[in-house]
Order: sequence, then C-alpha cells, then structure tokens
Amino acid sequence: MYSSAPEPGVQSSKHAIPAIDLRSDTVTKPSPEMRRAMFEAEVGDDVYAEDPTINRLEKRAAEIFGREAALFLPSGTMGNQIAIKLHTHHGQEVICEERGHVFNYEMAMMAHFSGVVPRTVWAEDGIVTWEHVKSKLRTKSYHAAKTGLVSLENTHNMAGGTITPPAVFNEVCDNLHAAGLPVHLDGARVFNAAVALGVPVGQLTAKADTVMFCLSKGLGAPVGSLLVGSAELMDRGRIYRKALGGGMRQAGILAAAGLIALEQGPRKLTEDHANARFLAQGLAQVPAIKIDPAKVQTNILICDISGTGLSSSELSCELSRRNVLANGVGPQLIRFVTHLDVSRDQCAQAIEALTSICASNVRYFYRADDK
Ligand SMILES: *Cc1c(COP(=O)(O)O)cnc(C)c1O
Repeated sequence: MYSSAPEPGVQSSKHAIPAIDLRSDTVTKPSPEMRRAMFEAEVGDDVYAEDPTINRLEKRAAEIFGREAALFLPSGTMGNQIAIKLHTHHGQEVICEERGHVFNYEMAMMAHFSGVVPRTVWAEDGIVTWEHVKSKLRTKSYHAAKTGLVSLENTHNMAGGTITPPAVFNEVCDNLHAAGLPVHLDGARVFNAAVALGVPVGQLTAKADTVMFCLSKGLGAPVGSLLVGSAELMDRGRIYRKALGGGMRQAGILAAAGLIALEQGPRKLTEDHANARFLAQGLAQVPAIKIDPAKVQTNILICDISGTGLSSSELSCELSRRNVLANGVGPQLIRFVTHLDVSRDQCAQAIEALTSICASNVRYFYRADDK
C-alpha cells in the first residue's frame, strides 16, 4: 500500500495566484455567511452540554438522519474511532475494506484505542457486498478473534468516490444484524452519495447502527464532523470524546458554520459532481492518462498515470509548477477532488496543464530516441 497521506497535502500551496487546489475537498474555506454566523454564534460550555449552537446542530443532524441523537466532534477520525470503541471489545476484529480510511489513515487507532485488529476485504470499486463479508465473519472459537463490527465507507474515498448501491448496503446490514453484529458507516462523504443517488441521506443510511459524516469537506465548514445513532450510544460516545481530548467548550463558534454547511452544503454538491465528470472526460482525452469517466460518480477521480512514464510525485510536482495541486495516492495514481472552491473553468485549466505536461514529456522521449 502506498503510504502518502491522502488528506493532508503532501505539498503546500505557496503560489502568488491562488492555486487550483484539487488535492481534497478538505481545503474548502468558510464562506462570508459562515464567518458572520461564527461571529454572532451564541455559545456555552459544551462539556456541560450547555452550548446552544452545538445543541442545535446535534439536534438537526439527528433529525436529518432520523436518529435519537448526534455528537459534534472535531474530526471524522475521532467519530470513526469512537464508533469502533462503542461497538467492540478488546481482542476482537473489525471487518473493513482494504483501502478504507478507518484502516489506512487513522494512525492504527483501532488497535491503539479499542484493542481490535482490522480484517480486510478487497472489493471492486470499494463496494462491499454480503458475499465479501460472509466469508470473513468469525464467531466464537478457541483459535481466532471474534468479529465485533463491520465498518463500511460510502462514498469510498480511495476507490474513487464510488457509491455503494442502497440495495447492496441494506443486504449487508440486514444479514449482519441477523447474525447479531453491528455496522458502522464511515460516511465522511455520505451526502455526496445521497445527492448523486437522489435519495434522502437518512433513508440511505438508516440501517447502519452509527454513521459518521464530515461537515469540513464538500459541505464547506472549516471544522467538524458528527456521529449519529441511538441516545444510549451517543451518551457513551460523549465519554470517549472527552477521553480523546474532544471536549471543546465554546465550540458553538464552529457549530454555527456547521449548521450552514449542513443545511446548504448538500445542494451544492451536484455542481462538484458535474465538474468531476467534466474533468474526467477531459483527462480521458489525454493519451497517457487512464480514467473511465463512466466510473466517476461523485467528486473524486483517480487516474492511472503509468502511461506518462512519470511517478505520481513527479507528475504532481509538474502540475504544481502550472498552479494545479493534486496528490499521488499510489506510485502511479493521482487523485483529483472537486469542491466548491474549484470552478468549471479551473477544471478546464487543470486539463490543459496535464495535457501540456504529457505533450512535453512525449517530446522528451522522442529526442532521446533520435540520438
Ligand atoms: C476525511 C475522511 C475521514 C475523516 O477525516 P478527518 O480528517 O479526521 O476529519 C474519514 N473517512 C473518510 C473516508 C475520509 O475521507
């Protein structure tokens, strides 16, 4: 597995003109409306559950997801790890997809904090079916650790923003519940899935026992994620949030931006998805780049650049010289993420930049051959 971090930028943007930043949707900046709401936010001490703005955000999130309760968190990682802690006991296993965020990009916290080991499945396009899970389940034995939880991801980040079809997801959940096992959904970008499918997010995620989603990505808030589930689970979750250092006092300042992200962010995602398809169609025209635009469902696309003869770090370095930022997510895989701070026009410029790199790269090879 390639070890480059997918979310934090491997390169920083120090450009005179604002860069076309396609590294991640985490780079979105709060809107003037969010900043105004932050300025005016009513606050209190959230460790005492006395921050009215956080309480409002948690109530709205619970409503939208059709749950009893929600918990506001500084990050999605904390939400996923609290969920794993809530559902498992030390010495158990968690089944997840091989490229999943909970396994690869959360600092081995499932082992560190919950004392569980991941048991991975590899699923085409990151779409985990009941068939994948069934063969990996382990019940009580004197040899192998027991399965404690299945943690799924929708959309699947490292599989290219892919959507798990609702019927597939529901079948996994129903079978696991029948086996007495819980399901957690890493829904960092679950609003992207819901918007692309045209299904209410609460309906799409109804069968998961807990759902984490991020306000700080495509929805545009500066900070924050939520975990939703039963009142009992969220009540216990508050204890783990405090233990992890996530008791945030007057964080209504953040929740104020989060409320705007939650109410208004989802409808803007359609444009990000259209821009991602536009980008994919443009990149598919570049001979050395391999990408199937038909597989681009949401705001993430991952291109195979092996045809360029460049490594992903060489290519992302060439791109950054042309003011376009994108991260390598494998030795010859580059990921592009569209979001509300990248326009259609800037996507066209990114296509041009890649086209020109590939063209000059080909000339270089011809010159070498001429000798
Ligand atoms: C971003 C992300 C998270 C959470 O990330 P934080 O940076 O901790 O907020 C979790 N899962 C997936 C799939 C993600 O893309």
